[in-house]
Amino acid sequence: MHTYTFGQSDEQAMIRDTCARMLRPFESRHQEFERSLAQEGRVPEEFWQAMTEAGLLGAFIPEAYGGTAMGLTAGATACDAMASKGFGHPLYLLTSMDALCIANAGSDAVKDKFLPKIATGEIKMAFAITEANAGTNSFRMTTRAKRAGDHFVLDGEKTFITGIDQSDYVMVIARTRSRDEIKSAGLPKTACLSVFVVDSHAPGVELTPLPMRAIEGARQFTVHFDAVKVPLENLVGEEHAGGAVMFSTLNPERILIAAGACGQTEYLLDRAIDYAGQRVVFGEKPIGAYQAIQHPLADLRIRIEAARGLTYKAAAAYDAKVDAAETGMYANMAKYLSTDLAIDAADRAIQTHGGAGFSEDIGVIGYWERTRLMRTAPISKEMILNYVGEHILGLPRSY
Ligand SMILES: Cc1cc2nc3c(=O)[nH]c(=O)nc-3n(C[C@H](O)[C@H](O)[C@H](O)COP(=O)(O)OP(=O)(O)OC[C@H]3O[C@@H](n4cnc5c(N)ncnc54)[C@H](O)[C@@H]3O)c2cc1C
Repeated sequence: MHTYTFGQSDEQAMIRDTCARMLRPFESRHQEFERSLAQEGRVPEEFWQAMTEAGLLGAFIPEAYGGTAMGLTAGATACDAMASKGFGHPLYLLTSMDALCIANAGSDAVKDKFLPKIATGEIKMAFAITEANAGTNSFRMTTRAKRAGDHFVLDGEKTFITGIDQSDYVMVIARTRSRDEIKSAGLPKTACLSVFVVDSHAPGVELTPLPMRAIEGARQFTVHFDAVKVPLENLVGEEHAGGAVMFSTLNPERILIAAGACGQTEYLLDRAIDYAGQRVVFGEKPIGAYQAIQHPLADLRIRIEAARGLTYKAAAAYDAKVDAAETGMYANMAKYLSTDLAIDAADRAIQTHGGAGFSEDIGVIGYWERTRLMRTAPISKEMILNYVGEHILGLPRSY
């Protein structure tokens, strides 16, 4: 049925085949895989190894640093393909966005230090921007990095940081001048942020686990930085100029999330179709014959096409180095459309399964929290609508 590959490259077809081959040995153990995510809060290491061997970690890395330089479209295709089969790795997304950030904005020293090891799967990375008093409004952050000879000293606290316990490094956005200094110098609030790659196990990094539900396979932590030494070469981009670096990292994150959400929708739809085609409760026909069950599934199928169209447009714009603001528009819209779709898909998959939809053995209930999270984080639905209202429609800002 899916033969017309409008706008899709041979490279994407190859990534899809690669993912299908890589996932095959895991598919028969899907339930066991899910159980280990939920119980251990981490993805089995053999899955990371399989992704590395399939070359997925190198997709974002320039060839000079051991990667295949296939770009964000390739990564989005991988996220989509894995999620379509009910698999994924939260640290793949985080490591990928960090790798892109280093590749695009980093000095030769930081690229040499980290990119080859990311390509070979030796390094997993987390991402830390959120602070308790600076959630949606990142510019209120107070985590501070001060230069001291051959290193920076990092002090502060980040919260909700996903998977840092499984990571080797974490990309941290911090202030290199305090908010008061910026204010008195008359600089904009976006000034004097800097981006660092910080060793997750460095002395002075302390993790406090948070009792949260949403991402199976990765826990969240509050991370305390107490006089943590960060080598100078771990700065990504210029000191004080991290605002732009940060923004250029967030677009890929949104696009990868959108791609994963399209894949999750596909997976949930497949699960619902399977069940609806088999379950008989009245007469001879399965429940899939009832339009109350069938039509919402048909609706999801139509919306997947639209969401994928926008998601891959955003990825292609990023890879083509289209202006960041325009890419941001597609990225935000794709994230909005795809994540709302995935939430609806989780709801319909649960409803189609009736009571069985709530069984952990059936495994669709876990998607309720997993998909719902994406309406809130990493950027909320409200903030995307604010962005579109203000920057695309040209209407006044409310806040
Ligand atoms: C499971 C999970 C994992 C996460 N992982 C990470 C991670 O790895 N790294 C990281 O840095 N962060 C992470 N986060 C943090 C996440 O990005 C933030 O929770 C998110 O950005 C929202 O910030 P907040 O929670 O402080 O909400 P708030 O900023 O307090 O917002 C609360 C509500 O108000 C709304 N709101 C706020 N301002 C406006 C406005 N101007 N107009 C309209 N509505 C508004 C928001 O949309 C939201 O609905 C994670 C969060 C969760 C829940």
